[in-house]
Amino acid sequence: MHPEATTGAGPAAQRAGTDAEHRAVAAAPGSPLIELRGVTKVYGSGSAAMHALRGIDLTIGAGEMVAVMGPSGSGKSTAMNILGCLDTPSAGSYRFRGLDVDAMSRDQRALLRRHALGFVFQGFNLLARTTALENVELPLIYHRLPAAERRGRARAALAAVGLTGWEQHTPAELSGGQQQRVAIARALVTDPDVVLADEPTGNLDSARSREIMDLLRAMNREHGITVVMITHEPDMAAYAGRIVHFLDGLVACEAAPVADSAAAHAGADTGAPAPGTGRR
Ligand code: ADP
Ligand code: MG
Repeated sequence: MHPEATTGAGPAAQRAGTDAEHRAVAAAPGSPLIELRGVTKVYGSGSAAMHALRGIDLTIGAGEMVAVMGPSGSGKSTAMNILGCLDTPSAGSYRFRGLDVDAMSRDQRALLRRHALGFVFQGFNLLARTTALENVELPLIYHRLPAAERRGRARAALAAVGLTGWEQHTPAELSGGQQQRVAIARALVTDPDVVLADEPTGNLDSARSREIMDLLRAMNREHGITVVMITHEPDMAAYAGRIVHFLDGLVACEAAPVADSAAAHAGADTGAPAPGTGRR
């Protein structure tokens, strides 16, 4: 078993991959982990132009756990995709550990994604007809590790999310909560600096949602992994140390989570009450 999969974020130099890859994503010392400045995103052009982001400033330090909230269409996923190097801004700058992401080539951004970022999605995004173990191993294929080490790390990551014994099951044989735990193991297995989660509990009931949030918080607190997650539910946002509210493609405000703030924000997007805030 490879210890890194369970002991969490180590120095970049300890990660799998070549030296050249490490240099490509090496940090500029003393910089914030994530820094967006004046980031805009326009889809389409002319009269069909859709301004998804209108100038986002956001700084996230290493080790933070940040919740992103806001109505549907306010630009949360667009911002997350830019943070995840899955999309590029139309204007503005994105620095990751002080590195200018906009100046990177496609390949360099892919390296950053591979070595520093992990992703968790609302719909789990697991490969069907592929076992839990193979799903978790997948990101390591790009790290050029020997098969036995890949397998060992994937097993350890599944153990870390409480899925020992479920390695050979396919997604269809797992519950929603278990599938999301596989997805978290897949995000964890590369020992990332940041996990980006877009509505990770959106398809889960409240008990399962809490299990997922407990896992994300443990990754954050015990392994020092920075977590940025989008959620509609104040009860889930309350797990974060900081809440950033989006509105109309802008950061509208920031707040520290308050334990009983649920009612104030409940159903801002869906019109549905958050778990535990149902009408009497
Ligand atoms: P949120 O995640 O907050 O619901 P999104 O970031 O998904 O919001 O979307 C912000 C706006 O940008 C929405 O109006 C959406 O319709 C639009 N949008 C998102 N992705 C695309 C795309 N690929 N092409 C055109 N418009 C898009
Ligand atoms: Mg979204």
